[in-house]
Amino acid sequence: MIVVAYLSGARPQEVLQLERGCCRTEHRPDGTERHRLAGRHFKNVTDSRGNHVPQGAMREHPWVVIAPVHQAVTVLEDLADDRVLFPRSLSKCYKPRAHLGAALIPGLAIQRISRFSAWANELSRNHGLEAELIPEDPDGAITLRRFRRTIAWFIRRRPSGRIALGIQYGHLTATLADGYGGRSTTDMLQLPYLEQALATAETLAAAVEQLTAGEGVSGPAAGRYITAANEFQHTYPGGFLSKRQHKALIANPRLQVFDHPEAFLTCNYDPHKALCNPSRGKAEAEAQRTPSQSRCQSNCPNISRTDAHMVLAGREIDQLRAEITDGLLPDPIRRRLEQRQQSLDALIKVHKASRITSAEESAHV
Ligand code: SF4
Repeated sequence: MIVVAYLSGARPQEVLQLERGCCRTEHRPDGTERHRLAGRHFKNVTDSRGNHVPQGAMREHPWVVIAPVHQAVTVLEDLADDRVLFPRSLSKCYKPRAHLGAALIPGLAIQRISRFSAWANELSRNHGLEAELIPEDPDGAITLRRFRRTIAWFIRRRPSGRIALGIQYGHLTATLADGYGGRSTTDMLQLPYLEQALATAETLAAAVEQLTAGEGVSGPAAGRYITAANEFQHTYPGGFLSKRQHKALIANPRLQVFDHPEAFLTCNYDPHKALCNPSRGKAEAEAQRTPSQSRCQSNCPNISRTDAHMVLAGREIDQLRAEITDGLLPDPIRRRLEQRQQSLDALIKVHKASRITSAEESAHV
């Protein structure tokens, strides 16, 4: 249930009402596979008199899902013989209640997620894997509704977090776009874009604050970074952005600023210059609307670096130094860490020598 809810982007009721045989695999002429998940939708489904139809209607466009969802559905089909994938009957304390229907209800789904967390934690403790423990959630119980929002958050804000997830989320972005293409209603596809707008606004708001405090910036796109922060400050002076402002923010090519602290840089994304954009220099360059941070290259003209990034680089140098000097590392690994330390030292040196502040940039202009 967690895999299906998290990686499909379907709404809670849509997930819980999925039926046996809902996931089909299409083998395409180019040798690739597409998994399609057919199911019901419930939001805004009305009859000819405008009354809400509680049993919903079959979706015209199935969800296009990635392989783990297909595998999860296959497992569910092997677990029980019921018509629905998440039957209420698959429980020790099942009591037939006609008015509740055959499928699990959201309240029971929440209880099962909570029991799953407890079981996973017990397993982790028994194996001494403290790092795998699922922590208590300060926002309360994990509901199915939160999965949709979480996947959108990760797609936009941690595109290159952990490599495996980064690739998975990359597939998912393409898959969602494919499955939801042409749909104009508020739907899953809009959530990643909303998250992107929020992330960009947060990055720019932080840039304004830091530049005002005298932060220095270096790199080929340092001027563009400062200009973007100034434009953001003057165009969006309040703390709250309306839906229209979110759209305008995403559509403004000068404000496409993406923080990438793991690489100690900010990407001032211009698709025509982006070294991670395979269509760079071609007419279709703008089709890649966001950077591929997992393919980021250190000589890209879209890079700017701030004092804050250099503080992070300094911390990594300290860690490397501690590992290098403890004398426990095999030679090849020690040499690799030394090379990494030298490249970070050089990065900080170049930054210090070339950094400019917002005030200096304005005086220069
Ligand atoms: S290569 Fe890196 S800096 Fe350049 S556009 Fe891509 S993500 Fe941004």
